Amino acid sequence: MIVSNTMTGEKEALRPLHGGRINIFVCGPTVYDDAHIGHARTYIAFDVVARYLKARGYSVFYLQNITDVDDKIIERAKKLGVDPAALARRFERRYLEDMKALGVENVNLYARATEHIPEIISQIERLMAKGFAYETESGVYFDESKFEEFGKLSHKSMEDPDRHRIEPDPTKRNRGDFTLWKKRSGEEGISWQSPWGEGRPGWHIEDTAITEAYFGPQYDIHGGALDLIFPHHEAEIAQMESVSGKAPMVRCWMHTGFLNVKGEKMSKSLGNFITIRELLKTWEPDVFRLAVLSAHYRTPIDFSEGVLDQSRRSLERIRQLVSTIDQRLKGEADDLPAPKEDEGLERARTEFFEAMDDDFNTPNALRVVFGLVRDLNRRMDEGDLSIEGIRAAGEMLAEFGEVLGLDLYAEGSREEDDKLRDGLLALLQEVRQRLREKREWELADEIRERLLDLDIVLEDKNQGTNRDRDRG
Ligand code: AMP
Repeated sequence: MIVSNTMTGEKEALRPLHGGRINIFVCGPTVYDDAHIGHARTYIAFDVVARYLKARGYSVFYLQNITDVDDKIIERAKKLGVDPAALARRFERRYLEDMKALGVENVNLYARATEHIPEIISQIERLMAKGFAYETESGVYFDESKFEEFGKLSHKSMEDPDRHRIEPDPTKRNRGDFTLWKKRSGEEGISWQSPWGEGRPGWHIEDTAITEAYFGPQYDIHGGALDLIFPHHEAEIAQMESVSGKAPMVRCWMHTGFLNVKGEKMSKSLGNFITIRELLKTWEPDVFRLAVLSAHYRTPIDFSEGVLDQSRRSLERIRQLVSTIDQRLKGEADDLPAPKEDEGLERARTEFFEAMDDDFNTPNALRVVFGLVRDLNRRMDEGDLSIEGIRAAGEMLAEFGEVLGLDLYAEGSREEDDKLRDGLLALLQEVRQRLREKREWELADEIRERLLDLDIVLEDKNQGTNRDRDRG
């Protein structure tokens, strides 16, 4: 299979470092508030990456950090008058609940920054010892001039004006030097002892300390949305490759496109966000998942209610078919020949895997799924599929659903089915009542008998009919 690597800008063959094992790290959230659906887009995309790699037979270890110490956490806690650690725990818990609700369930380990302080300190000490870092009165900084390849992921040169958006700090050697350790300056409420006095880690160092602890200095895939390429991922490379002397730190850099609203990135700071919780009050998680997967993970998504509505209808189409298949399988066996291999099904399977093999191309994979749905509906209508063929089709749809993380048997479709069944029964009851009024007992009785065969009991009363259904 091939995967786009941001570092080279090319699609490259996936070559794991350790045979059939793939170590993947994705930057986790800063837990100071509820996550929004832009975050969800990125985490759903990587959930499918992990699901597909597993379906391809790899043994996947998916690691995510939780940034539970950060300026934003401290500021918010101060504003609310609460303990920053307690605030971080609260939003971490809510984040994990949100991920569960969205079916994002393939992360093997969530690693809190605050539980890796010794690893962070050790990495900074080694950077200092090797001359890549220096101490000032405000903290410890990485000297970017010592790492010649700085900018190799974002392809930004040293002169790029985008590299220096923050005000110069006179205590630093170079404008672009970034914080490894921030010395405690006041009553921040959260700090640790270190060789440089009390303080807390910078944002970039937590990730490399965590990945080094679990994966060592080199691993397979690093992911995040594309806003993290610079400076965050660039800084990670500088830290880890300087400490270890080994390159590349990561074989493949995967970056997701943004979820946008009217052309702008959904973000806390722009205020154009919808939290995952808000979304799930009105929309089923899989409707959102399908909307996310309808775009390739690298391309932007322009979010709107219309997009969700479209994906709700598409999901319903698959679910209708799955429920028809279910009913057919409960019905009687037919005597159609059962071919060993069904050409249409085999082709769909090959095309689905080809699409996913090509840089996790979920929109193409979904095209295959919807083509298959159309085809199966037609073939079942025409009686061109044996019961064994129908069973195989059902299993294949379940397999595709598993890879994409979509629940094709969700409540929604059962509710729709129930509604339809109730409506049809009410209609039959009315028809029977009219027949009885016209004294057409024979047909009225036949309807009752036939319904009895389906375990539906109709009890005749003088005034009408009472329905007593046993759905088994
Ligand atoms: P943060 O908590 O802001 O560091 O974000 C956590 C992850 O979500 C990072 O990988 C971000 O790049 C990603 N992310 C944030 N906003 C969006 C968005 N609007 N669309 C896609 N991914 C996003």
